[in-house]
Amino acid sequence: MIHGQTLAAWCASHPLIRDLIALRETSWFNPAIAPAATALADVGLGADDVAQASARLRRFAPYIAKVFPQTAAAGGLIESGIRPLPRMQRLLLIDASLPMSGQLWLKTDNELPISGSIKARGGIHEVLKHAEDLALQAGLIRPGDDYAALDSDTARAFFGQYGIAVGSTGNLGLSIGIMSAQLGFQASVHMSADARQWKKDRLRASGVTVVEYESDYSAAVEQGRRQAESDPSCYFVDDENSPHLFLGYAVAAERLKQQLDRAGVRVDADHPLFVYLPCGVGGGPGGVAFGLKLIFGDAVHCVFAEPTHSPCMLLGVHTGLHDAVSVQDFGIDNVTAADGLAVGRPSGFVGRAMQRLIDGYYTVVDEELFRLLALAHREEGVKLEPSALAGMPGMLRVLRDRDYLARIGASSARLANATHLVWGTGGSMVPEGEFARYVERGRQL
Ligand SMILES: *Cc1c(COP(=O)(O)O)cnc(C)c1O
Repeated sequence: MIHGQTLAAWCASHPLIRDLIALRETSWFNPAIAPAATALADVGLGADDVAQASARLRRFAPYIAKVFPQTAAAGGLIESGIRPLPRMQRLLLIDASLPMSGQLWLKTDNELPISGSIKARGGIHEVLKHAEDLALQAGLIRPGDDYAALDSDTARAFFGQYGIAVGSTGNLGLSIGIMSAQLGFQASVHMSADARQWKKDRLRASGVTVVEYESDYSAAVEQGRRQAESDPSCYFVDDENSPHLFLGYAVAAERLKQQLDRAGVRVDADHPLFVYLPCGVGGGPGGVAFGLKLIFGDAVHCVFAEPTHSPCMLLGVHTGLHDAVSVQDFGIDNVTAADGLAVGRPSGFVGRAMQRLIDGYYTVVDEELFRLLALAHREEGVKLEPSALAGMPGMLRVLRDRDYLARIGASSARLANATHLVWGTGGSMVPEGEFARYVERGRQL
C-alpha cells in the first residue's frame, strides 16, 4: 500500500505515475492552473514582501561590494545577465522537426558571483536577513547606517557568538556557508551523499564546518534542523519551508524585467514569456516564479524541470500529496548526476502555494542533461552544471503539447513572438577538470 492505495489503484487514477516509475521522460501541464489575479492569493506573501527583500539586498550592497570585490562593478548587487541562444535554438528545433519560432534565451545564474548558482539569491538573502535582525537588535547597526561597517572585527566577533546551520546537496551549502563565514558566523553545512567533493573542499577552506552523510538531501536537512534545535544560538535555514529564501529568489524577477526591457524584449499577452526552471525542493524555482507572476501576470508561463530519478514536485502536485509523498514511496531511487535536483520530497509550502501558478512540470533523463551540457558548451560557449541543463528541453515540451497551447491561447502568431527563457541555475564554479569530464561524457552520447 502507498498512502492508503495499491500501486495499481494509483496508476489507474494517475496514469502518469507509470511513466515516473519507469523513469520515462514525461511532461504534465496542469489543467487546474488559475489566473494570476486569483491564484497569487494562495501564496500568503505579496509584492510588499518581495520589495522588502529587494530593499534589504540594496541596504547590504555597500557591504557586499566591499567584501566580495567581484560584485563592486554592479554596486554590490548579486546579479547575472541574460543572453540569446540562437545556435542552440536552431539545433533543438531542427532535431525535433519543429519550425523556427520565438527566441531562446538563457538566464546566466551559473555566473552569479560569490557562489556560482541560483542559491546566491535565496541563500544569501536569508543569511543577510538573520544578520540584520541580530545586528539591529544588539545596536551594532542602526536603521539608515552604511552596512559596510559590518566589515569589522567588532562585527565579526559579534556574529561569531552565533551559528547558522543548513542541509544541502551542495549549492545551498556553498551560498550559506560562504556568506555566513564572511560575516563571522559559525557555519555548519550538512551535506548529502550527492554533494561534490569540490564543494565540500571549498567550504572547509572558508572555515565552514562540513558534516557529510551517506544519505540523501532530506536526511541532511533533518540533521541540520536537529543541530539548530539543540543550540539556541544556532539559526537553521529551512530550505523546505523558508519564506526568506523564497523572497530572495523572487527578487530576480524585477531585475529580469529591467534586463528584458533593455534588450528590447516585450512581454505581454501577444508576446508570451515561457520560463524553464530546474526544480529540486522547489524554493528556488518557486520563488523566481512567484516574482515573475507578480510582475508579468498571465503573460508569463513557468514550467518546472526535474530529473527522471527525482520527480518530487511533479509527483507531489499531481497526486495532491505534496510533502506527504516522496519519490522513494513509489520505488523511485532519487539517484541522479544532477546533484542540485537530487531531492526526493518536495517543499510542501511551495507545492501548495504555487500549484495554481505553475503551468507544468516535466522530467529529463541524466544522459540528456549531459548531451545538452556538451552541446551548449560547444555551440554557445556556456559553462553549466548538469542540473542547470534541465530547463533546456522545456521549449520543445511546450511546443509539442497542442492541448496545453490551445488552453493558454498560444496561437502560432503568439508563439512567433514568444520568448523562451532557460534558467541556467549553476556551473561557473565547477573545477575545469570536472567540467571537462562532464563535456566528454556528453559528447559520447
Ligand atoms: C538548488 C538548485 C536548483 C533547484 O533549487 P531548489 O530550491 O532546490 O528547487 C536548481 N539548479 C541548481 C544548480 C541548484 O543548485
